[in-house]
Amino acid sequence: MNDLFHSNEPQGANVSISRHSTNQTLLIDADDTLWENNIYFERAIASFISYLDHRVHTPEEVRDHLNRVEHATVLSHGYGLHSFRRSLITCFEQLTDEPLTADKHSRIECFAQSIADQEIELLPRVALTLAELATRHRLIMVTKGDKIEQTDKLQRSGLSPHFNGVEVLHEKNHDAYQAVSAQYACESCNTWMIGNSPRSDINPALSAGLNAIFIPHDYTWVLEHEVVSQPPDGQHLLRLTTFADLTRHF
Ligand SMILES: [Mg+2]
Repeated sequence: MNDLFHSNEPQGANVSISRHSTNQTLLIDADDTLWENNIYFERAIASFISYLDHRVHTPEEVRDHLNRVEHATVLSHGYGLHSFRRSLITCFEQLTDEPLTADKHSRIECFAQSIADQEIELLPRVALTLAELATRHRLIMVTKGDKIEQTDKLQRSGLSPHFNGVEVLHEKNHDAYQAVSAQYACESCNTWMIGNSPRSDINPALSAGLNAIFIPHDYTWVLEHEVVSQPPDGQHLLRLTTFADLTRHF
């Protein structure tokens, strides 16, 4: 587990396990909360770095450079595979003197395509847990990224029937959470954002006045790392080990 995740947030094992009342609104992240996602990017990046086989830079240095390129690409082009593809190409161009031939271009595109070709791999007991939670609460998927990619993954996951709403946002920040809350007429005290990312799921939801549930994933994308905030007075933050633990609280 990355040190950036460690803070003084309460541990799931130490909090009361009496369930919250019914009719809570549970806003639920998708990538690396409901299904595997970042591990495919990690594999693609490893393949890219080994293909690049840089004579001067170590694999770690190439990876650091790619992280910086990805950060810039996301700011200008948003999240999603199209941005990842663009980042790999840019990284290649910036780190090598070789011309980017059509052959090399298509080879690099294959690394990104390998992610799109993945079957959806649900995290343990996600389907059963959502089915149970949906009998007692309102579930809304709140994810970010490319709308077509995220909607397609939801359809292929088979989880769609459990959700009362689906929001694919450009960015998950304070304003976005306030907008979602207003759109669904959420009461802050009964609304919880659930996800694996401190930067996108937990901290901005707390800042927007919501409760939050942090379920860390060992392979969370480095650009999503952040120290978890303390909840303001009157708001709650839980940290759970697995998604299935939610049924002990809700
Ligand atoms: Mg996530």
